[in-house]
Amino acid sequence: MIIPLQCTCGQFQGQVEVSRPLNRRFVCLCNDCQAYAHYLDRVDQMLDQNGGTDIVPVFPARMKITRGLENLTVVRLSDDGIYRWYTKCCKSPIANTPPAKLPYIGLFSQTLKFADGKAGLEKALGSVFARVNGKYGIPPLPPGTAKNSTLPVAFWVSAFMAIGYLKGLRSPSPFIDSKTGKPILEPKVLSDPEYYALIDRTGRHPKITHAKN
Ligand SMILES: [Zn+2]
Ligand SMILES: [Zn+2]
Repeated sequence: MIIPLQCTCGQFQGQVEVSRPLNRRFVCLCNDCQAYAHYLDRVDQMLDQNGGTDIVPVFPARMKITRGLENLTVVRLSDDGIYRWYTKCCKSPIANTPPAKLPYIGLFSQTLKFADGKAGLEKALGSVFARVNGKYGIPPLPPGTAKNSTLPVAFWVSAFMAIGYLKGLRSPSPFIDSKTGKPILEPKVLSDPEYYALIDRTGRHPKITHAKN
């Protein structure tokens, strides 16, 4: 199933091909994802009541940017952090990608456009499969929220990556220059004081090491 992608203002557009059960939604409650929402000043739009971000992993070769590439920009919360791609036009988070070239893009579920909104999302990708990094979440957490990750999630991510490798879906990626193998844009990297100021704004455990996802 091919689903259109769009930033909030509509200047940035794309599409992604997904299929169940491989593409599933999970919610990440980690400190960094919360800090990122503060960075974009979009806490109310990006985070649920527990501070969670709804993500759907997709294969790089299945995602295309069709309009408004010039609105794309990227930040890393630390020099070893993931690449967090968002739009300059309206500060919509688009996707997160790992520093290494893996068959994985963590797409923000909100970027998927359905005529019937949330109902369409549920119909296409089902309800949230897992909630992870609950130790950073704002209580009360929904039943079944994992403190860190869980075995089923680890197993699913491994299977997802293995299939991505086997089917050659690691590239082309809309975020990687196919000639150089490097990200298409140079990221802004936050300094430690900038990072910790954001973490303070989350109001969650102020002194932690950087979470990797
Ligand atoms: Zn926009
Ligand atoms: Zn996270």
